[in-house]
Amino acid sequence: MKIAIEELAGCSGCTIAVLDLHEMLLDVIAEADIVYSPVIMDVKEPPEDIDIAFVTGAVRNVENRERLEKIRKRSKTLVALGTCACYGGVSGLSMLSSNEDLFSCVYREVETTKPTGLSQQTCRRSSTGRSRWATS
Ligand code: SF4
Repeated sequence: MKIAIEELAGCSGCTIAVLDLHEMLLDVIAEADIVYSPVIMDVKEPPEDIDIAFVTGAVRNVENRERLEKIRKRSKTLVALGTCACYGGVSGLSMLSSNEDLFSCVYREVETTKPTGLSQQTCRRSSTGRSRWATS
């Protein structure tokens, strides 16, 4: 049996959880070959004849969608593994804001870029849907 693990928009923690099987992973390897997993081996493309493909992470951009469609075509069975793959997870939450608002919250308007010094701030969504920093 050939197994693949694809990574989309996520933290790769789901694949690390598979590695956390520790010695039980030997039981898995005795029954199946892991033929594709960019996190745990140096591979770029999934092979054609996968029996079971596990997909972790969400579809956040065009590349994610293309990779998901490719591994769907190349596998007999596809399993969504983890919250991001099943429900969107943290990556899915980013779909609730514009790219401009996300860029501001994460990179531009952070404490280390403000000349006023450190304060307790959180990024909140206003009633208009725009994200703003608020001091609490
Ligand atoms: S569900 Fe998403 S955030 Fe959680 S470990 Fe998997 S990839 Fe990471």
